[in-house]
Amino acid sequence: MRILVVEDDPRILGRVQAALEAAGYAIDSADNGEDAWFQGDTEDYDLAVLDLGLPKLDGLSVLKKWRAAGRDFPVLVLTARGAWAERVEGIDAGADDYLPKPFAMEELLARVRALLRRSAGKASAVLQIGAVTLDTRQMRVLVDEAQVTLSPLEYRALSYLMHHAGRVVPPTELMDHLYAHDHDRDLNAVEVLIGRLRRKLGVDLIETRRGFGYLVAKA
Ligand code: CA
Repeated sequence: MRILVVEDDPRILGRVQAALEAAGYAIDSADNGEDAWFQGDTEDYDLAVLDLGLPKLDGLSVLKKWRAAGRDFPVLVLTARGAWAERVEGIDAGADDYLPKPFAMEELLARVRALLRRSAGKASAVLQIGAVTLDTRQMRVLVDEAQVTLSPLEYRALSYLMHHAGRVVPPTELMDHLYAHDHDRDLNAVEVLIGRLRRKLGVDLIETRRGFGYLVAKA
C-alpha cells in the first residue's frame, strides 16, 4: 500500500511519515499544494493524508482538483480543532474522513486502516483467505495459526493482493503500490518478491496468470 502525505509543518510531516512507514506503508510526501496536486494526479496512491493549510495551493483546492480529474483514492483530511466549516467544506469536496489537530498517531493509523479497508470493500481489520490470515492492526500474517515472518515489502505485497482478492493485479500495478516514488522500479524484483512470499507462506494463495498478473482468489 502506498500513501501520499501532504503537510507543510516539517515536524508533523516527519512524525506521520515515520509512523506510517513503521506500519508497513510506502510513503511519498509533499510540503505544498502544487506538488501535492501533481503527485496525486500522476502517481498511483492507495490513500492520501492531506493538510488543508498549505503554501502555493490550499488543501481544499488540491482535493477538488484531484476529484475533478477522477482521482478517487481515499483522502484523510487534517484540520484545525474546532474548524467545523473546514470539515464541512472538506467533506463536500470529496474527503473521506478528517482528523482534527493535534491528533494521537494511533488514531491516524486506525483511520488510515479503516479507509483502506473501506475502499477495498472490507469491513474487518483482519483479512482471512484460505489458510492465510492478515491482521492489519498488528501487521501479522498467520498460516494455519502459525505466524510467518515477512519483510515490510513482502507484507505490503501480500496486503495489496489480499485487499484486491478476486482481481488479477498486473505486476506494474503491484510495483506502483509497493515502492515510494524515489525507489528504483524493477519488474524482475517484483517476480522475485512474489516467489519469496510464496515460499514463506507455503500454501497456494497467489496464482500467476501468465501475461496478466497475480491473483488471490476471493475468500
Ligand atoms: Ca499546514
